[in-house]
Amino acid sequence: MSSRNTWQKDAVKHALGESIGFVSAQQLHLVLRNHGSTIGLTTVYRALADLAKQGEADSLQSNEGELLYRACGTDHHHHLICRKCGATVEIEAHRVEEWAAQVAAEHGFGQVSHTIDIFGTCSNCSTEKGN
Ligand SMILES: [Zn+2]
Ligand SMILES: [Zn+2]
Ligand SMILES: [Zn+2]
Repeated sequence: MSSRNTWQKDAVKHALGESIGFVSAQQLHLVLRNHGSTIGLTTVYRALADLAKQGEADSLQSNEGELLYRACGTDHHHHLICRKCGATVEIEAHRVEEWAAQVAAEHGFGQVSHTIDIFGTCSNCSTEKGN
C-alpha cells in the first residue's frame, strides 16, 4: 500500500510498455538502470509478478525456465493460460469476434465487449511425467 512501491511498479510498467517482445526481469532491470533508476532486481521481479497477476502483463516461460514478460497489449485479444506455470500467450480469435458480434446483434445488444481466456496445460508442463 505504500507509495514507494507504487512508483517503482509504475517505472517497471513503463519500461515494460516500451520494450519490444518478451523481456526478462534482468533485461528490464538493466534498462531501468541505464535510465538512472536505482531500483533493485528483486523489486523488478516482484513488480512484474504483480503486473502479471493483475492482468497488466503477459508472462511466458522460456525453455530455460526463465519467466519472460510483456505488457499486455491494449489491442483486444484473448489469452491461453497455463494452469500449472501461469505462462500466458496472447491469441487472436477472429471467429470468436464474429460469433460475439452476431449473438449480440441477434439480441439487440450494442456496445458489447467480452473477455475470454482459455485455461489449460502448456506444452512445457504437459510433457512432464505423469498427467
Ligand atoms: Zn494480454
Ligand atoms: Zn505451463
Ligand atoms: Zn475477443
